[in-house]
Amino acid sequence: MSRVRTVLGDVRPEELGVCDAHDHLFLRSPQLPGQELNDASAARAELTAFREAGGEAVVQWTPYGMGRRAADLMELSRATGVHLVCATGLHQAAHYDPEVLGKLRGGLAEMFVSELTGGIGTSGVRAGLIKVAGGFHTLDAHARWTMTAAAEAHRATGAPIAVHLELGTGALDVLDLLCGALGVPGHRVILGHLNRSPDPVVQRRAAESGCWLAFDGPSRAHHPTDWRMPRAVRDLAEAGYGHRLLLGGDTVVAGARSVDGGPGMPYLLRRVRERLAEAVGAELVDRILTVHPGRAFAVDWT
Ligand SMILES: [Zn+2]
Repeated sequence: MSRVRTVLGDVRPEELGVCDAHDHLFLRSPQLPGQELNDASAARAELTAFREAGGEAVVQWTPYGMGRRAADLMELSRATGVHLVCATGLHQAAHYDPEVLGKLRGGLAEMFVSELTGGIGTSGVRAGLIKVAGGFHTLDAHARWTMTAAAEAHRATGAPIAVHLELGTGALDVLDLLCGALGVPGHRVILGHLNRSPDPVVQRRAAESGCWLAFDGPSRAHHPTDWRMPRAVRDLAEAGYGHRLLLGGDTVVAGARSVDGGPGMPYLLRRVRERLAEAVGAELVDRILTVHPGRAFAVDWT
């Protein structure tokens, strides 16, 4: 039976409810100094605001070594009643101390599997997805290493692989590697940040692979392309790929939280939802927020 692996245990896909399929409650990186998401009380306030806007589940894409705070996610889920899914995986090399990466050489897939099936550290929280990242219009050796390990961990567990596309680029290179060379089924791959490089031809070709297309934001950094998202979603829906779509907020820095003056997680339900309903109808938007995340993240765990 397929289940979504949340921080409080496995749930049936239909139990997720209204889901932000790509976001962050905790995240730190040397690339974002002073902007860390590292405050449990702010995370709780943001999650409460999301729940009050009608939200019922959040998938946190923060991977290994970037301050996921798995034990805190458990407490936050209990306190707010919002389902939370936590990731394993590895981001681009620039987000890590080279020594940390050195220690993972030779054992990356095993680490992913251990976090998916055994738990993250001593928290008892099991990861429910594997997050990896591509590069700008290309895949470097680090991306190939992490994606190869992700595919191995997918084969061992069934876990879905969620991909950060750098500035929205490289989708077809990622799919050639993951689904072509490494044999991961399309429906087990979720491409993130598609609105950041809004090429409708590339998006349609990616959709043809059977993967999930995740649109996220808004974000100050990606404002020049964020506004194209309703049109992109409509084009994909009209081409017959409405059933492959996901939505998220992708709150990456503290200033983006609603409780710190940004749009944050509630914006997805407060404004994105109704704007997209104008483009593709409320029924499809409701399915994108409820049925699709259940399908994208539910696994027959082995
Ligand atoms: Zn993200």
